[in-house]
Amino acid sequence: MEKQNYQAKMEEQIASLKGTPKLLLHACCAPCSSYVLSLLSKHFLITLFYYNPNITQEKEFEKRYQELEQLIQKIPHQNPIFLIKGEYEPKTFLELAKPYQEEKEGGKRCYLCYKQRLEKTATIAKEEHFDYFTTTLSISPYKKADWINEIGRDLEKTYQVSYLYADFKKKDGYKKSILLSNQYHLYRQDYCGCLYSKKEREEYVKKNQCQKISSHSA
Ligand code: SF4
Repeated sequence: MEKQNYQAKMEEQIASLKGTPKLLLHACCAPCSSYVLSLLSKHFLITLFYYNPNITQEKEFEKRYQELEQLIQKIPHQNPIFLIKGEYEPKTFLELAKPYQEEKEGGKRCYLCYKQRLEKTATIAKEEHFDYFTTTLSISPYKKADWINEIGRDLEKTYQVSYLYADFKKKDGYKKSILLSNQYHLYRQDYCGCLYSKKEREEYVKKNQCQKISSHSA
């Protein structure tokens, strides 16, 4: 199957826009939203939708939301940016992720996780009469842009709301999000969100520390 360039697809969609359409932008966290907002806020009237049942610890869920509130205050934007806080409902994520808890980040569990968040976004976009919906998720090099965009395309058909294709990591998007996060002093978590990704990260750090210790003592 031919590899799609979702970044180019988004640019085509933007070039054909008339006026300033309403976009419901699913946001996973402030660092990932920083570059996406700087890119899209001149073309759309954006409402950020913070919906992340995958963040299994409530403290972390609240912290990432507060960072998003701060970011909107700090980042320059041509059009107003609104923010909706989705419900904190980790049980819904844990139910669907349980059979795949041993998978590494990037496996089947993540597909279901993207889908859960995008489907809720499409539902709200439909109910609230948005012109477009999309997500910040593709900015991460750890997320599969093909899966995200295929899910978005299917939801567009189901919910009859236009999906804005994207691969925000392209054109140095990820690098720019790091620079903006530093500029705005944003909290950047070192794991994706679920308890499984937290465990994976902790094991990785531990392993690296052990290797350092053994290489020091060698
Ligand atoms: S690793 Fe990230 S994308 Fe994958 S299931 Fe966990 S929170 Fe979701």
